[in-house]
Amino acid sequence: MYEAMDKSYVMQTYPRNYVNFKKGENATLFDENGKDYIDFTSGIGVVSVGHGNLRLAHALFDQASNLIHTSNLFLIEPQAKLAKRMCELSGYDMAVFFANSGAEANEGAIKLARKYGLQAFPKKRFKVLTLEHSFHGRTITTVKATGQTSFHKEAFAPYPEGFSFHEQIRALIDAIDEETVAVMIELVQGEGGVQPLDKAAVQELAAFLKERQLLLIIDEVQTGVFRSGEFLASQLYDITPDIITLAKGLAGGVPIGAIMTTHKTLFEVGDHGSTFGGNFLSTRAGLEVLDILESYKQSGLLDEAFLFFEAQLRRIAQAYPQYFEKELGLGLMRGLRCKGEETLPHLIKSAFEAGVLVLRSGRNTLRFLPPLTISKEEIQEGFRRLENAIATLS
Ligand SMILES: *Cc1c(COP(=O)(O)O)cnc(C)c1O
Repeated sequence: MYEAMDKSYVMQTYPRNYVNFKKGENATLFDENGKDYIDFTSGIGVVSVGHGNLRLAHALFDQASNLIHTSNLFLIEPQAKLAKRMCELSGYDMAVFFANSGAEANEGAIKLARKYGLQAFPKKRFKVLTLEHSFHGRTITTVKATGQTSFHKEAFAPYPEGFSFHEQIRALIDAIDEETVAVMIELVQGEGGVQPLDKAAVQELAAFLKERQLLLIIDEVQTGVFRSGEFLASQLYDITPDIITLAKGLAGGVPIGAIMTTHKTLFEVGDHGSTFGGNFLSTRAGLEVLDILESYKQSGLLDEAFLFFEAQLRRIAQAYPQYFEKELGLGLMRGLRCKGEETLPHLIKSAFEAGVLVLRSGRNTLRFLPPLTISKEEIQEGFRRLENAIATLS
C-alpha cells in the first residue's frame, strides 16, 4: 500500500527497499511485521548514538518544547556551545560554520577556499583537486568535485570550472599548478572502497601544501564524530587541516553540517549563510550526541566495540577466503573486499533476508557503518546472521 503511494508521489531517485521500519532500539530495527534486523548501516553513518536513543530524544523534546528555530540573526546558545565543544574536541584552533548536510558543508568549504585563493595570492587561485573514487556530495559543484565520472552526468551540465580528480596522492601533488588553491580528500573513502589512505602519504601532502600556503580540506562527513576512534580522523593522521567538513553522525540523525577552519575570520558578514544552519534543534542534538559519545569513549566502551567488531570481521574474512579478499577500514567504518562480480549484490540481498543490514562501497566492498553504541550482543548476532547469508552464496 505504501509502496504504491511512494512510487506515485515520491520522485524515484533511490533504489529503494520497501521494508517498513516502525521502531529501533540501538542497532536493532523492527519492521511492521515484527521482524528484527541488526543495523550495520546506521542510516549511512548518521545514527551515531543508535536508534531510539532516549537521552537524545529527551534533549530534542526539551529543546522543541522551548525553541526549534529563531534564525541566525540572533544568538543561538546551543550553536555557540556546540562550536566551542567541537573546537575543543578537535584540539585545533578553529571556528565553525553550521550548514545542514555534507554537500552543503563541502560547498561552503569550496567557497572559503576560493576566497582564500583571491586574498592570499597576487593572482587568484581557484582550483580544488580531489581523489579518484571520492564522494563529496550531490550539488552541481560538489558532484563535480566528486572523483567519479559516472556522477558527472551530461544531463546536469555545464558544471563549474576548477575541479579535477587524480588517481592517488602522488598524482594529485603533481597536478598542482599556479591556479590550484586547495586539495580536498577523505582519509577513508566511504563510497570508494573503505581503504584508509596511507598516513605517510597524507602527511607528505599536508607538508607540501603548507609550504606553498595552499589549503588542505579534509572531508570528514563520514569519518568524523568518533567513527575512527578520535573525534576526527585527522587527529589519527596527525595533521592539521585548514578546513574540515562534518555532517552525518554529528547530530544523531537531525540534519546538520559543519565547516571547521583555522581561517576563522576569512568569511565576513554576508559571505555565507543558511536559514536552517545551526538552529536550536540541530545544535542541541549535536551537543547531546557529543556528550553521549565522549563519555562512551572515555569509559572504554567505544574501543571495546571497535576491537570486538574488528575481530568478528577478521574471523569472517579468514573463514571464507573464497568470497573475501581482506577486511579493511578503521574504527567502526569497515569493509570486506569481495571476490567475484556477483558476491556483493547477492550478499547484500541475502543479508537483508537473514536480518542484517549492510551497505556497499564502490564496486566490490561490503561496507559496515554500525551505530557507535552498538552492543557486543548486537555485533555477535549481526555476524551470525551474516554467516547465514554467506551460506546462501554457494
Ligand atoms: C555522505 C557524504 C557526503 C554528502 O553528504 P550529504 O549530507 O548527503 O550531502 C559528502 N562527503 C562524504 C565523504 C560523505 O560520506
